[in-house]
Amino acid sequence: MMNEAIRVGIENNISSRFKLSNKVYHSFKNDLHTWYRLSAIEIASSLLKNYRREKRKNPNAKKPYVWKKFAKIGNQAYTIKNNILRIPTQPRHFVEIPLAKYTQRVLSDPSLKLGSVSLTSRTVCIAFSKEIAEVEPTGYIGIDRNLENATIASSDNFIRKFDTSRILRKKEAFSEVKSHFKRNDHRIRNRIYSKYGTKQSEIENQELHKISKQIVEKAKSVNFGIVMENIKGIRKLYRKGNFQGNKYRRRLNSWSFYKLRKMIEYKARWLGLKVIYVPPHRTSTFCAICDSKVVECTERKVWCPKCKRLVDRDENAARNILARGMRFIPIGLSSEAANGNPMKELTTEVILRADGSQLTQKS
Ligand SMILES: [Zn+2]
Repeated sequence: MMNEAIRVGIENNISSRFKLSNKVYHSFKNDLHTWYRLSAIEIASSLLKNYRREKRKNPNAKKPYVWKKFAKIGNQAYTIKNNILRIPTQPRHFVEIPLAKYTQRVLSDPSLKLGSVSLTSRTVCIAFSKEIAEVEPTGYIGIDRNLENATIASSDNFIRKFDTSRILRKKEAFSEVKSHFKRNDHRIRNRIYSKYGTKQSEIENQELHKISKQIVEKAKSVNFGIVMENIKGIRKLYRKGNFQGNKYRRRLNSWSFYKLRKMIEYKARWLGLKVIYVPPHRTSTFCAICDSKVVECTERKVWCPKCKRLVDRDENAARNILARGMRFIPIGLSSEAANGNPMKELTTEVILRADGSQLTQKS
């Protein structure tokens, strides 16, 4: 249905959900519940909008096509009763999924508001949100994320490094495997790529969850806010033409920057901790104490000629980020706040996975 809607959308040059719906809704020939038609149209519409934007920049932009089976249904479409998730498939037909213990425990919180349910061929994700009052911070923690580690510096003078080199090494190993793979059979290649890719991102997620959890726990224990660099700027720094090779850029442009930031943000906001973003430029080139230009010495150390001090490069950067968070007006509390929606700012959405392997079909 999604690809059908995309085809119609491109043919008729429409991307608005309403117009697309009028055009294709009744042409779908299947007996699935209407929720799935609406879901397909909504997803197609957003893909068409992206495509249209992309096409303005690049006339040869690739037409969108959905390979994965995917649907998203609103919270009126499903019910949860007696720890069983009931999802409509066709009119008067349902799939019932018993919820795992962990899922039951999370959902038992009465302050949660349930959102949409996303379905793929193997997973069911329940989105939920909670209104949280923001805690007025008594101090801040600055976080510098670089290739080797994530370093935190807090206003109570606490410094800590979290090693992330394991993720980096796995990523490199994966690129190595890919570059040596020359057999010209796309089916096998795809299978091997996705096998290594999944493994790699599992390890990455595990590590990043561990790190973000520890950072947020530290912040919670002293009621500190969190200061991070605005990621857009970070990526810009490592773009083409910055005298850096392809290999270097690939590592830096990796998703893990973004992932860690997201994890810290949602974990912190779920606890009502304040999260602010500061401009990323030159956090590692100026001294965090006297603000004069530092000299790069060894690989991880910088020398401040004014303070006559040799400082750890990452520590200096984390301190600079912290100082910026406390000194300057924050450039945005969060992505939502930046869009000018003050209500949404207090709502944190978390995705919970239910186990799709316990499906029971019922009509
Ligand atoms: Zn200095």
